[in-house]
Amino acid sequence: MKHTEVNFEQFPRHVREHLVPTYEGDVVYECIGCAATYHLNQFLYTCPACKSLLRLHDRKFDELKKIDGATWRDIFDYRLMLRLEPLKGIFLFKEILFPSIPLQDIIYLGEGHTPLVRSNAALSGLVGMEFFVKNDGLNPSASFKDRGMASAISFINYSIRKRNIKELLGICASTGDTSAAAALYLSYLDKNIVRSVVLLPKGKVTPQQLAQPLGSGATVIEVPGVFDDCMRIVEQLAERYQVCLLNSKNPIRIMGQKSYAFEVAQQLGYDTKDLTVVVPVGNAGNVTAIMEGFLDLYRLSIIAHLPQIVAVQSRHANPVAAWRASGRYEPMTVQSSVAQAAMIGDPVSFPKVKKLVEEYFNQQFFAVDLSEQEVIEGMLEANRRGHVVCTQGGESIAGLAKAVKLGIVAKDRTVVVDSTSHQLKFSNFQQMYFENSFPAEYQITAKPELVNKPVQLEASADAIAGYLKLKEK
Ligand SMILES: *Cc1c(COP(=O)(O)O)cnc(C)c1O
Ligand SMILES: [Zn+2]
Repeated sequence: MKHTEVNFEQFPRHVREHLVPTYEGDVVYECIGCAATYHLNQFLYTCPACKSLLRLHDRKFDELKKIDGATWRDIFDYRLMLRLEPLKGIFLFKEILFPSIPLQDIIYLGEGHTPLVRSNAALSGLVGMEFFVKNDGLNPSASFKDRGMASAISFINYSIRKRNIKELLGICASTGDTSAAAALYLSYLDKNIVRSVVLLPKGKVTPQQLAQPLGSGATVIEVPGVFDDCMRIVEQLAERYQVCLLNSKNPIRIMGQKSYAFEVAQQLGYDTKDLTVVVPVGNAGNVTAIMEGFLDLYRLSIIAHLPQIVAVQSRHANPVAAWRASGRYEPMTVQSSVAQAAMIGDPVSFPKVKKLVEEYFNQQFFAVDLSEQEVIEGMLEANRRGHVVCTQGGESIAGLAKAVKLGIVAKDRTVVVDSTSHQLKFSNFQQMYFENSFPAEYQITAKPELVNKPVQLEASADAIAGYLKLKEK
């Protein structure tokens, strides 16, 4: 038997015929403003009629309700045992993720199914309750952006075949991780057809995040300004030229990022009754996807409750927290932040967040904001206690601590904190802390007890034993 062949006999009868998905749905772009729909045989990011954002909508979604929630849970759980590559990653949930992409076109680079790690006593004590960290830094390019890029690039791969595209330029603006993910996934495709270009705000991504798209062979263009400036430029390019925009403004990205919600539900046995999900917010694509994902599960009775959502931002880039506090949304000019990947003053997906909150999440959606000092120390304190989190993960953890203190999150809830990328991408901020060398605008002063530096000693056992005050056996 070939390693990909399925022995259906080993699976319970009620899931057999559903294990390998055949459902294709009827997926279209749908405008969140005027509800116009558009065929998927084009790359679209905003509604040609009214300029609002688009989402992907499966017009046959209700057909999925013919299968009950319990059966869906079994299908997704038993599907984990299959050895079919296209279903190994985010497309495990294909019927509700992107049903119209044929299995043969799915690109799988190892994304998704990241671990939930329980906080130990030391970290729980610091935060005020026990929680789980879902470590999305363990994705191929070391951030959750790979989830959205896997769906976007699979769609591109499918479009190239279906529409016989001979030439395609993938482009994105980035706070670092989008470009790393886009460059990685694009580099997997045929170079004779696909070119890859990323636009970065000069000096505003970490050295590791700059190294990633360079290593993947992308054309890396650095421009002065911040992310919001880069975003404006790629929006103009996408409007005027034949390019495929790979930012989360592209609803095809959001589709893949819903997998985070599906996995959290699955990892918790689909029990979301007392669930809280804490997520750092920048361009607001991720929090949109997470809410949409839980909503899909809820509609199919795969889960019985929508979770509480806690969005976390640094005060240096907090338009969503300010909106939640005042009821008014205003784009803002950002200041330097160690949560650099979320340093965005005018989140593109804000209209989607607003709509989801107003229509479904209401009083279950909260936002908190933090000082830069709290964000970086959230990371340092977690890392010292056995948890690998980036500055945005630290932001989530410090945000949870604040939400517990404010009484937003009750201590008996099940909490999942999103650590969105890998700690190593942000080691420059750790170094700045350890050297107490942050520029004034960060308003961060190192606490001596959190600083750690290498010790220089001569190369002798005696010197090292003396330094460590070791006792002889
Ligand atoms: C992109 C990113 C964010 C912000 O996500 P949005 O979808 O832009 O809100 C947070 N953390 C990391 C590490 C990121 O790369
Ligand atoms: Zn419209």
